[in-house]
Amino acid sequence: MPDDCLFCKIVAGEIPATKVREDDDTLTFTDINPQAPTHVLVVPKRHIADIAELSADADAGAALLRGIRASAEATGLTEFRAVFNTGAQAGQTVFHVHAHVLGGRRMQWPPG
Ligand code: 5GP
Ligand code: ZN
Repeated sequence: MPDDCLFCKIVAGEIPATKVREDDDTLTFTDINPQAPTHVLVVPKRHIADIAELSADADAGAALLRGIRASAEATGLTEFRAVFNTGAQAGQTVFHVHAHVLGGRRMQWPPG
């Protein structure tokens, strides 16, 4: 893992986070700056930088989708938004791929 990767450190337990669920391939924890009543981050346990890298690994992609679905269920969401900010201009600040799963309020469209 890159030494400076925040989410690798959370996966390794070196930085605390409020865990929601985990499985062999993914970890879900609450976002430190929630944008909705429920806002969790679903990350692969193995370092994968972004969607470009994720798309080259079908198993990892499927595992992350399963993690998203299971996280919605674990947080009681039947309706939710899943977001991958990809690149700095799109708002990505942590370059370990992650899905934001947001719900618990009406979500605006289009997003800002
Ligand atoms: P991005 O901007 O890369 O799409 O999303 C990164 C997310 O990580 C942000 O929503 C931000 O609030 C969250 N975040 C940043 N640092 C921490 C942290 O130390 N712990 C947790 N749980 N979330 C964090
Ligand atoms: Zn990482």
